[in-house]
Amino acid sequence: MNIVLLGAPGAGKGTQAAFIQEKYGLVHIATGDIFRANIKGGTPIGKLAKSYIDAGKLVPDEVTCELVKDRLLNGSSGNGFMLDGFPRNIFQARELDKFADIDLCVNIDVDKSLLMDRICGRRMCSCGASYHVSTLGGATTCAKCGKPLYRREDDNPATVEARINTYTQQTAPLVEYYAAQGKLFTVDGGAGSPADIFAAIDAELKRYLK
Ligand code: AMP
Repeated sequence: MNIVLLGAPGAGKGTQAAFIQEKYGLVHIATGDIFRANIKGGTPIGKLAKSYIDAGKLVPDEVTCELVKDRLLNGSSGNGFMLDGFPRNIFQARELDKFADIDLCVNIDVDKSLLMDRICGRRMCSCGASYHVSTLGGATTCAKCGKPLYRREDDNPATVEARINTYTQQTAPLVEYYAAQGKLFTVDGGAGSPADIFAAIDAELKRYLK
């Protein structure tokens, strides 16, 4: 089963990806994570991507599509894969359809008014866990592994606003794209706990696999 996870920044794609990965063993491919690893490693792709990421804009399609294509065609994909943060516009979705078969698009729908607070209050751990400052009670280390938490560089108000605009203009049309293919499942990502939201996604994945 190959899934596309769709949702605005702060919708909870990473959190749901972790639940899905644990239960279904799908390979999690997050383009944002790949770019951040390249930035950390000082690679040419990282150097190019940084200016776009800092501005809340999309990294050029040729670079991004090539990266994902290479990962899908040359990496392991076991029970299938889950794309988190790709595609992010119609061009990328059409390219993806040329080199992969997508079964389902899980669209995590969250009202825009919630996104800014969710992202600006987000604290990350290198183990993949993420938290919100309002629930940390002042803690500065990860409850799962003890490592120090950090704030993503692009999780600041100016960049977040640009990222949300980029999402609205370029990524949101993918909802229609996948609906037209009969592959869209939308879940309300603004109500309930992460576990509740996963329960709704899980029910759909089970239904699909039957
Ligand atoms: P994310 O971790 O998914 O929030 O992505 C962080 C940033 O990486 C985005 O704001 C973009 O600048 C860049 N990025 C991630 N995925 C893509 C993509 N599919 N196409 C272009 N840029 C991307």
